[in-house]
Amino acid sequence: MGEIPESHPRYESLMARKKMTDAAAAGLLADSALIAHGRGEAFDYLLGEKTTESAKSAIMETASQLLAANQPVISVNGNTVALAGIDLIACAAVIECPIEVNIYYRTPERMSALLGALEEQKIAACEKYPELAENIQCVEFLGREPDTKIPGLEGPRANCHTNGIFSSDVILVPLEDGDRCEALVEMGKTVCVIDLNPLSRTAMTSTIAIVDQLTRCVPILLKYLKDGGSQINESWDNRGNLSDGLAEMLRDLQK
Ligand code: ATP
Repeated sequence: MGEIPESHPRYESLMARKKMTDAAAAGLLADSALIAHGRGEAFDYLLGEKTTESAKSAIMETASQLLAANQPVISVNGNTVALAGIDLIACAAVIECPIEVNIYYRTPERMSALLGALEEQKIAACEKYPELAENIQCVEFLGREPDTKIPGLEGPRANCHTNGIFSSDVILVPLEDGDRCEALVEMGKTVCVIDLNPLSRTAMTSTIAIVDQLTRCVPILLKYLKDGGSQINESWDNRGNLSDGLAEMLRDLQK
């Protein structure tokens, strides 16, 4: 892809595509990763590629839950590392929690590539957020040697670390799949997901679903975390918030 001018109306989207194709070439992604991204883009188009008010509420609730957690964790897959790794490392630095790589199509090569990419992103994160550099250095990356499994889940995505996903009370997991989301909720965790599709099983079964583009909402999450979040809303209505998100998608069409 040639140089994309910043004035291009779909600049952000084209940059995200470039990150995804570069990550695919570097062996970070499964073959189906670009399809999943494309499905997300379609929903983002309906959102007008903007972060909605309902998404902002969900981001704030997620920030508050992560800050109040006893053992928070951020779970990442290939798409997440490719699109938002640097800013998520900064989030982990504020919360002081580990990042665990959890992928479905698990090969030693892909795991190594992802953990290597995160180490490089750690350096970039220190440069981008020098005020967080000390904490960023301490962010631990897990995933290489899972020692336990998420109960009730088949396949490689069940594998996890006792001191990471398994023992966490609040988990931020962008781009989750429905089965794993359900299994994590079943374990009693507060599961915060980022998914542009408000009708996905993931969005519907999670505790808090942020219906927004990963690349847009993680910087907002970081800001909310740095600002200290707010009071936890004990009666958070995930389905109600998803309905608001869906209505915001359709509003422009109804004008
Ligand atoms: P589910 O099992 O939850 O019904 P699914 O099988 O429909 O999920 P997957 O293929 O696991 O979905 O993942 C694709 C999902 O991730 C899509 O719903 C898409 O909206 C979302 N998605 C993809 N890329 C992004 C992104 N960059 N930001 C936010 N959401 C995204």
